[in-house]
Amino acid sequence: MTRLIDPFQRTIRYLRVSVTDRCNYRCFYCMPTQGVQWEAREEFLTFEELTRVIRLFTELGVDKVRLTGGEPLVRRGILQFVRQLSALPGLEDLSMSTNAHLLSDQAAALRAAGVRRVNISLDSLDPAVFRRITRNGDLRSVLAGIDAALAAGMEPVKINMVVMRGLNDGEIEAMFDYAVSRGADLRYIETMPVGEAGIDGTGHFMPAVEILARLKRHAGAELVPAKGGKGAGPARYYQVGEGPVRVGVISALSRHFCDDCNRVRLTAKGDLVLCLGQEDRVSLRDGLRQGLDDEAMKELIRAAIARKPRSHDFNEDRQRVALRHMSSLGG
Ligand code: SAM
Ligand code: SF4
Repeated sequence: MTRLIDPFQRTIRYLRVSVTDRCNYRCFYCMPTQGVQWEAREEFLTFEELTRVIRLFTELGVDKVRLTGGEPLVRRGILQFVRQLSALPGLEDLSMSTNAHLLSDQAAALRAAGVRRVNISLDSLDPAVFRRITRNGDLRSVLAGIDAALAAGMEPVKINMVVMRGLNDGEIEAMFDYAVSRGADLRYIETMPVGEAGIDGTGHFMPAVEILARLKRHAGAELVPAKGGKGAGPARYYQVGEGPVRVGVISALSRHFCDDCNRVRLTAKGDLVLCLGQEDRVSLRDGLRQGLDDEAMKELIRAAIARKPRSHDFNEDRQRVALRHMSSLGG
């Protein structure tokens, strides 16, 4: 079996694909209100180009793909694209990260087309706070989107809450109760020193240990590390007492996940980003548009993987990554 192995003997099986840098929301930690430098649409890989790149990755051993953005559901033709991806023989796990604003109408069709699970951003259950964070978001649409994903049989539905001191940290407990009521998994995320949050110096930063302590008090139960709770991703998962819901905490500044990192990211314009916390990237679009054949493209991908760094450098130099917007990297 073909495998993509980096210089630190990590097998790369997971590709996160940003299909657009556009978004219908303007979460303050992710995007500025105005003056976003959008990429021109012709800069984006077409769905045909994306499908080809993803096929090449699957032929090299990647079996897990997550579609993200920006907001993936704002790109026209996404459903048809999902159908094409689902037809790739090597692709076992196709998922999506979305703000769920447009999900209520599309969840069933996306599930039928092959999206098995979704991660949904939800930072507040209070309409005013939700609006303040997303700037123009509509909480009702998002909650309807979550219910539609559950009704469509997406499994699991994971809710991602970026916890920000002074803004939504009062809702750590309410969000847990909401997730339990829906049977959804929940992940609390520390703000990361990228995008707008990086620019404002992460003034709202709240460490994972504090979030967990609050949850433990609220639930009145021990947080037991979940079986398989330390996967290749950045989240650590816990069972709360005997409860059914798994709770994860993503501590961006911790390096515990770098040793097991199995992922790379593709931006909407076709740059392969080897690590979220490093600048190094390789343009696959240039190769595609120069007419490289499949073997030459695979060589380009292998050479890029050979440049994957051992770990991110958030701790040493937050500023280096601060100006890069999360919306172009897809989280
Ligand atoms: N629009 C989709 C969404 O919001 O889920 C997908 C893209 S979004 C960039 C992916 C994730 O990145 C979201 O969960 C968002 O909360 C998170 N994110 C963006 N900027 C962040 C930051 N500075 N710190 C922590 N998480 C961030
Ligand atoms: Fe859009 Fe997601 Fe960024 Fe919010 S976090 S602005 S929903 S891309």
